Amino acid sequence: MTTPLVEMDGDEMTRVIWKMIKDILLTPYIDLKTEYYDLGLEHRNETNDKVTVESAEATKKYGVAVKCATITPNAARVEEYKLKEMWKSPNGTIRAILDGTVFRTPIIVKGITPYIPTWTKPITIARHAYGDVYKNTEMQVPEGSKCELVCTDKNGNETRALIHEFNGSAGIIQGLHNVDKSIESFARSCFNYALDMKQDIWFASKDTISKKYDHRFKDIFAEIYENEYKEKFEAAGIEYFYTLIDDAVARVIRSNGGYIWACKNYDGDVMSDMVATAYGSLAMMTSVLVSPAGIYEYEAAHGTVQRHYYKHLKGEKTSTNSVATLFAWTGALRKRGELDGLKELCDFADKLEKATIQTIEEGVMTGDLALLSTLPDKRKVDTEEFLVEIKQRLDKMM
Ligand code: NAP
Ligand code: MG
Repeated sequence: MTTPLVEMDGDEMTRVIWKMIKDILLTPYIDLKTEYYDLGLEHRNETNDKVTVESAEATKKYGVAVKCATITPNAARVEEYKLKEMWKSPNGTIRAILDGTVFRTPIIVKGITPYIPTWTKPITIARHAYGDVYKNTEMQVPEGSKCELVCTDKNGNETRALIHEFNGSAGIIQGLHNVDKSIESFARSCFNYALDMKQDIWFASKDTISKKYDHRFKDIFAEIYENEYKEKFEAAGIEYFYTLIDDAVARVIRSNGGYIWACKNYDGDVMSDMVATAYGSLAMMTSVLVSPAGIYEYEAAHGTVQRHYYKHLKGEKTSTNSVATLFAWTGALRKRGELDGLKELCDFADKLEKATIQTIEEGVMTGDLALLSTLPDKRKVDTEEFLVEIKQRLDKMM
C-alpha cells in the first residue's frame, strides 16, 4: 500500500473482533498501512473527543477510512466509563464533517433466505440524514388557537400561511425544514455511489401531496441528474428512477433487488429496519458513508455487541458474527486499491470476501446465522474459530 487507510478503532466486542481480523486475516497477507485513530470511548474521553474530529479530518485528507463500531454514550455509559461529558455519537460527528450519506447493503449467502424470497440480490438503502422530523419544532395547541407558518426574510418581510384554526378541539402542530444544500449533497452522493456500484438508483417522495416540500426534493434530484449525471449514467448503462413513495414500496416488494434506494430521512429510518430484518440479520449488513466529494468511510451497521462483550470479559466463549466488520475492511481495502491503482489489493479484498461467503455456505458459521440457516449440515463455531476457518479457505486461494 502507498497511501494509508484511516483506521478508526472502537469499543467492546467489535474492538476484540477488530484485532482478530487484523491479526488472522490481514497482516499475514498484505502490507497493511494505516493511520490509526483510537475511537474507543476511553480515548475519546481522554482527548475530549478531539480524536473523533481528527479521524474525520484524516479521512478527508486520504479519502478512505474503515471504522469499528463505537459506543454512543448515554447516562449509563457516563457512569460506567466515568466520562467527563456525554460525548456525542462519533458517527454523527464524522457524518457532519464529511457531509456524507450512509449506504447500507446486506451480504447475501446461500442458506439464509430473505423473508421476501424473491430478493435474490441486495437492496442498498441510502438515507438522507438531515432535517425533516428529526429537527422539528412541535407544539400541542389549545382549542380556539389559530396556527400559522410565518417566514421573516432578511429584509424583515413576513410571509404567512394558515396551518389550521383549532375550532372545537385542541390539537398538535409541527414545523419541519430542510436545506437545498443538504438535499444537493445527498443527491450527488447517491448518483456517485450508483455509478460506483453500477446499479440503478431509485428515489421517491410524496410530491403529489407535498407540492412544495417534497416536490423540492424531486426537483433538486432531477436537476442535478440532468445537468451532471445523465450522460455518465447512460454510458454506464444504469438508470435514475423517480416515483411516489407508496409506488416505490410496492415495487420494492415485487423486485429482485440489485439497486440502490435513496430515501428521505424518515423513509430511510423506517425502510432500513424493514430491509435489514427481511434479509435476515443486522450482523450481515455493511454500511458506507459516501461524501459528495467522493470520500468513503466503511463500517458494520451493527453496534458494539455489548452483551457478548460482557460474556467475553468473564472468560466465556462468544460466537459473534464478524462478517459485517470484515466486509468493512474489504470494502475499504478495495476502494484504496481502486484509487491507487493497486490491483493486487483489490484482488485480495475479493478473495477474502469469497472465502468468508464460502465458509458460511459450507456450513461453518456463528450462532446468530446457525439459527437462521436452512443448510442441512451446519456447525456453530466461536468468534475466533470462524476467522480461522475463513483463513483456511483463503490460504487455498492465495
Ligand atoms: P448491537 O451492538 O447492534 O447489538 C444488539 C444485539 O444484536 C446483540 O446483543 C446481538 O444479539 C445482536 N447482534 C448485533 N451484532 C451482532 C453480531 N455481529 N454478531 C452476533 N449478534 C449480533 O446494539 P446495542 O446492543 O443496542 O448497542 C451496543 C452499543 O453499540 C451501544 O453503546 C450503541 O451506542 C452502539 N452502537 C454503535 C453503532 C455504530 O458505531 N455504528 C451502531 C449501533 C449501536 P444477542 O445478544 O441476542 O446475541
Ligand atoms: Mg430505524
